[in-house]
This record gives sequence, C-alpha cells and structure tokens, in this order.
Amino acid sequence: MSVDSGLGSRVKRAFETALAPEDVIGDPIRCRSYECDGLTGYRVVPELVLLPRDAAQVAAAVRVCAEHGVPFVARGAGTGLSGGALPVAGGVVISLARLKRVLEVDPVDRRAVVEPGVTNLEITAAAAPHGLYYAPDPSSQQVCTIGGNVAENSGGAHCLKYGFTTNHVLSCEVVLPDGSLVTLGSDTGEQAGPDLRGVFLGSEGTLGITTKITVRLLRTPESVRTLLADFPSIAAAGDVVSDIVAAGIVPAAVEMMDTLAIEAAEEAVHAGYTVGVPAALVVELDGPAEECDVQFEQVKQICDRHGCTRLHIAGSPEERAAIWRGRKAAFAAVGRISPDYFVQDGVVPRTRLAEVLDRIAGMGAEAGLRVANVFHAGDGNLHPLVLYSAAAGETERAEKLSGEIAELCVELGGSLSGEHGIGADKACSMPKMFSRDDLEVMRRVRSAWDPQGLCNPGKVLPTPRLCGERPGRYRPHPLEEAGVIERL
Ligand SMILES: Cc1cc2nc3c(=O)[nH]c(=O)nc-3n(C[C@H](O)[C@H](O)[C@H](O)COP(=O)(O)OP(=O)(O)OC[C@H]3O[C@@H](n4cnc5c(N)ncnc54)[C@H](O)[C@@H]3O)c2cc1C
Repeated sequence: MSVDSGLGSRVKRAFETALAPEDVIGDPIRCRSYECDGLTGYRVVPELVLLPRDAAQVAAAVRVCAEHGVPFVARGAGTGLSGGALPVAGGVVISLARLKRVLEVDPVDRRAVVEPGVTNLEITAAAAPHGLYYAPDPSSQQVCTIGGNVAENSGGAHCLKYGFTTNHVLSCEVVLPDGSLVTLGSDTGEQAGPDLRGVFLGSEGTLGITTKITVRLLRTPESVRTLLADFPSIAAAGDVVSDIVAAGIVPAAVEMMDTLAIEAAEEAVHAGYTVGVPAALVVELDGPAEECDVQFEQVKQICDRHGCTRLHIAGSPEERAAIWRGRKAAFAAVGRISPDYFVQDGVVPRTRLAEVLDRIAGMGAEAGLRVANVFHAGDGNLHPLVLYSAAAGETERAEKLSGEIAELCVELGGSLSGEHGIGADKACSMPKMFSRDDLEVMRRVRSAWDPQGLCNPGKVLPTPRLCGERPGRYRPHPLEEAGVIERL
C-alpha cells in the first residue's frame, strides 16, 4: 500500500530522486516500526522513513530536508533509552541500517574504519583475528550501532578502565545539517584547532549524521580474571568498590546488582547468581598475567573484609561468559518480573552510592513502586529500573519517580546521565544541572551547526514549548482503547 505523505508529493519525489523510490517508505503502517526507540513511552510516527545506501545518499537526503525545511532524525538500531531517535512530528527518519560495512582493519596502526550501521560487537569480531578489540562495550553491544554509540558517547562495563566512546574515536565523517560532508578529527588522533570531533561526540544526533568512523583498537589483554561476590548489604558492596579503588587498583569493570535485578537475571538466563542476596558485585581485572594475579588476591581479601557471603571465581571462559550474561541480560530480564519499567541513567560520586540507593529505596516505597538496581558501580553510574504496570494505571507515578531519581543524582553532586543521553526524556531536567547561561552557550553551539534547527529538534536542550506544555508519554485515546480509531 502506498499512501501520499503529509509532506506533499513534491517533497516525497525529491527524496525519491535523492535515493531510489523503493528506499523511501511512506506507508504509515510501515513507518510505524520507526515510531520510537528503546524508550517506548514516547511515540511519533514519522512522515517518511529514508533508507540511504551510502554517505552520498545521506548527504543528498539531508540537502532535501534543508531545502524544504523538513526536520529529520538519524536512526541506528533504535536501542536508545532516552528517546534520542524519537521521530519529529512532520519529519523524516534517516536510517543508517544499510551503511554496515567494516571498510578497513589496520592492525599495525590499531584502528578500524567502519560505517555507522556496523554493530559495536561486529567491530570486535572484525578485529579479533588480529588479537585486537574495540573497548567500549554497552550491554546492548550485539545490536546497537557505532553511529548510535558516537551520538550517545556510549559507555559500558569496561569504560571504568578504558574510557567512553569519545576516547576511542579518532575521526568521523559527518553530513552537516546543510547536507555538506566534512571530516572531524583525524585518523592519527592529532589535530590543530578546537576539537570539533569532541563537540560532535555525544551530541545525540543534533549536529549532523556520521557516515564513517575511524576507531582505535586495543590489544586483547593477556589475562582476564573475573569474580562474582555476594554481600549482606548494598553498603558493604559499595565499601568494597571504594576500597578497591583506594588500593590503587583500576579494575576493568566493577558492576553491582541488587536483589530484584539478580532475581530477574537469574530467572531469565540462569547464570549462577544467588537469588535473595541483597547485593552482588562482578569484578573483573585484566592486563599482564602476573599483575592480574596479585591484584586479584587483593580484591578477594577486600571482599572478605566486608563480609562477602559467597565468592565465585570464573574458572573458564564459559564461566566468565555466564557471569557477564547475567549482568548484561539484567535490563531485558526485568521484563519477566514486571509488565513495564523505565530504565533511568544517572551518576553520583562513588562515595555516595550507598546513600543514593537508600534514598531511592525510600522514594520507591513512598511511590508504592519497586525499583531494581543494576549499575556500573566503579563509575558511580546508576541504572535504577522503575517497575510499574501501565494496565494498573501506574505510568505517571513511575515516570515521575524516574525523573525525581535523575534529579536526585544532580542534587548529590552527580549528573543527569552517565551514558544513555538526555534525549527527549530528560531535556526538561537540564535546568536542574545547568544554569541559564550554560544552556544558552549550548544553544548557540547548536545553532551554529544547524541554523534552521532541523536536525533532531526537541532533544537534549529544553524548549519553552516542550517543557511548558510537556506532552508527556503516549497515552491511548479512549476511542483508541475502545478499538474505534487507530493511531498512525
Ligand atoms: C538492553 C539495553 C542495554 C543498554 N546498555 C547500554 C550500556 O551499557 N551503555 C550505554 O551507553 N548504552 C546502553 N544502552 C543504550 C543504547 O544501546 C545506546 O545508547 C546506543 O549507543 C544506541 O545505539 P543505536 O544504534 O541503537 O542508536 P539509536 O537508538 O538508533 O539512536 C540513538 C541516538 O543516536 C543518534 N544517531 C544514530 N545513528 C547516528 C548517526 N549515524 N549519526 C548521528 N546520530 C546518530 C540518533 O539520532 C539518536 O539520537 C542500552 C540499551 C538497551 C536496550
């Protein structure tokens, strides 16, 4: 079925000329697949979905947008949890799914050149035969794309030691909002002048679309040691994290899960976690074998000192994989113990972990909602999962609690986001963290890149309209619920 787009047939034809007619989706039913990302509470069906096949077509599509004043949003795999790839009403989605070639792996200079639709894990798979890997590892790494990682400056369990996406991207080819193609940064990592690559990294798709990325590759570590430890309280596990860092050890990863998160993960993937314990830590060390062994002993002693009730050391690559399977499955697994949930993403200073978790528990109890916690403890990067049932009418309460938790992180000296971005979800909370002047500077930077304001508008920065008459999450119209009308 082909339905004429609300943008008008002239604009649609211009997109069809820039791409190919079959690469422009106008059928509202098919466009519905792109109505939201991983934050499913916000939904907007785009007017058109464009599926370019190369950078030249991305640039041509963006030029049509610029010429006709059409707002656009880039989309990778749509796993974003802050609504960054949420379509703009009356706009188009530009999917990068077809730009998925690994163009080059250079083992001598230890870098790879990839298109944006390549998944995070595919980069490591391409580098592995050379004894190399790509370090930032979001839990979604099997599906999320490097283009999305660049836009969100994504993190992951191993970013405590190795840094975030920004530390591993040497250069990006970018289609600017006027359709011109530029390269930011350089393949050697050297550059003169201001770091525009750094400005683009983490700009959440608001400054242009990246069509080619050069990333650093690291040598696969000689040795990796992983343990899973249970603790009688969150505070005890938090003290272990502080003591490990105080001992001068930089672990490759320190992840914490609480009772609810453990229960959900164990039910889903049977990874060998102890159901019912208040807290579990996954600690991983990597590096030269000798150094790893010595530090691993120190970590074990620190765990004992804080009342560790069970210490399971991975004795094989399979056991290590099982420990990580439990941790990495935790978000999705929560779906087994609750019909709906919001994933929050905030940061607090490491020393305030126990305090913030205590306060979150209190806020959850007050709201009458359960909150599961699974997080990058070493970074102080929390991921409270607010469990609710939309069918039981708990959505608004859960949304409010989730927002209050993010703002609590700011109050405790942390940040509104550690790695999932601000997107559509937390734009209205930005004034809690930044002054009016700070926000004005950000606005000016953005409008220098995108004077027409067409590139993913309504994200990251608060706008008076969005935050004043906040549209809120999608709620079905009573007629929709009655099956009388359908929302397209
Ligand atoms: C189960 C689960 C676990 C997760 N774990 C983590 C984690 O550990 N760490 C973490 O950081 N995140 C995590 N995430 C969030 C998400 O996977 C990341 O934000 C990821 O980087 C999004 O990639 P994507 O390809 O899905 O991007 P999308 O969701 O498609 O897009 C995200 C943003 O990037 C922009 N964008 C996409 N491609 C481009 C491009 N080529 N050029 C410019 N802008 C672009 C979009 O406009 C949007 O603003 C998780 C998500 C899920 C569902």
